[in-house]
Amino acid sequence: MPEATWLRASITTAALTLGLAACAGETASGAQPLRGALYTGFTLIDPVERTVSEDAWLVVEEGRIAAFGAGPSPEGAFSELHELSGHYALPGFIDVHGHLTAGPHAVQILDGQPTVTIDSVDEISEFNARMALAFGVTTVRNPGADPEASAAYDIRVSTGEWTGPDAYHAGAVIQPPPFGGAAFDYPRTEEDWRAEAARQAALGMRYFKLYQGLTEAELEVGARVAHEHGLEPIAHLDEVSWTRAAELGVRGFLHALPTSPELLEPDVREDYINGRSPDSRFMYQWFERVEFDGPQMQALFTTLAETGATVDLTLQVNALMTGPDAVERVYPPEHRSYIHPQTLEGLLSFGAMALADWTEKDTERAEAAMARVFEFARRLDAAGVPIGIGTDGPGGGPSFGTELELMVDAGFETWRVLELATAGGARVMGLEHQTGRWAAGYEADFVFLRANPLDDITHARDVGWVMSNGKLHDVNPLTHDVATSGEAARPVTSAPR
Ligand SMILES: [Zn+2]
Repeated sequence: MPEATWLRASITTAALTLGLAACAGETASGAQPLRGALYTGFTLIDPVERTVSEDAWLVVEEGRIAAFGAGPSPEGAFSELHELSGHYALPGFIDVHGHLTAGPHAVQILDGQPTVTIDSVDEISEFNARMALAFGVTTVRNPGADPEASAAYDIRVSTGEWTGPDAYHAGAVIQPPPFGGAAFDYPRTEEDWRAEAARQAALGMRYFKLYQGLTEAELEVGARVAHEHGLEPIAHLDEVSWTRAAELGVRGFLHALPTSPELLEPDVREDYINGRSPDSRFMYQWFERVEFDGPQMQALFTTLAETGATVDLTLQVNALMTGPDAVERVYPPEHRSYIHPQTLEGLLSFGAMALADWTEKDTERAEAAMARVFEFARRLDAAGVPIGIGTDGPGGGPSFGTELELMVDAGFETWRVLELATAGGARVMGLEHQTGRWAAGYEADFVFLRANPLDDITHARDVGWVMSNGKLHDVNPLTHDVATSGEAARPVTSAPR
């Protein structure tokens, strides 16, 4: 038989006989330098090229992609051989909005005031990290937490003490009280602003997260000090429009919730402002009134495209805010055991608060408004605004698949959804030359699915193996402490955050 075929056959045999980390030793062609690890037999899915290659192979050296292809595997002596037939391999998923190191939402009394906190808890962060990886997420943008906890996360993952995805963090979220604790900060003077940006930069943060309670003047300072300290300003806004914030230097917008009155046309603006109650109903009320072809939204699309600002779509946040029953769809009981019990509890109680007094009419209107949320997502994409897939969860987990399903519901082609989940997320995070693609020299970050996601996007949750920086992980040990029999399911009264 041809040499390559023989080699492949012998390698497969070696892998089968010696187990998954078999040492191949010398090959037929004689002694050759070790060439890292060889993975064979899987189906390669390339969401950028939109190609599917059966019987594919991959060589990983020092955590990076050395070579890949289909058909007979390359010659060489490999330190490891892994046979992965029956699996569909894609670049690892990228959650551009995953609260890896945030602890549970809580209300604490700080300085005599009731304060909303999301203080980091090591045990929870460690759990989040494993669950992210177990669902194929190899890179996370962590949009705000105690920067010391996030810096510690990076060290623990790089030393192997914890197993988790690569993370790029925003530090303490800049937001006035009643938000507080280590995950929030509210600078009051120019000097305070600079000191906080300097502190976060020194701790290795990449983003500076500006939150919805800030005034336009504060956003201006925040974006400025972020840039001065090499941090990328990202924002979750409400009052101040995305157009204005982009002009002020904000580079990334979080959530499909551009709910500023300024982005509505003048004839419906007053009505929106007057009808706004201090709860979450504004989320659908804004979408009921928006005119995507009007001057305000057209200016937004143009400004975002021109400034290169990115948007993370966390469509499940919109989906959750469609009423008390939505939680059953977005966080079905079978997914809940993959969320840390404390996180789940915080999530559900805050959700209950957000949807208190919600009537059937509210639900009807919010559900109808989802069509406009979906249109917003498609409009951003059509305008050339880089969009990424975010969960707003603890950093992936089963929610990542939920978000992919919502993108399909929103009318995106499955190929496009898979591209946004990988290379698109890398683009949003400025990592497009580093990860998210089948390309030599890139980080060896991959997810090996047990079924083809092109046939059904829900297969994106059916992860067999995941590789992060060249290290292959079996999903089962990652989830060893998760109760999968459904006993973690608990009665739910309302939807999360
Ligand atoms: Zn969030």
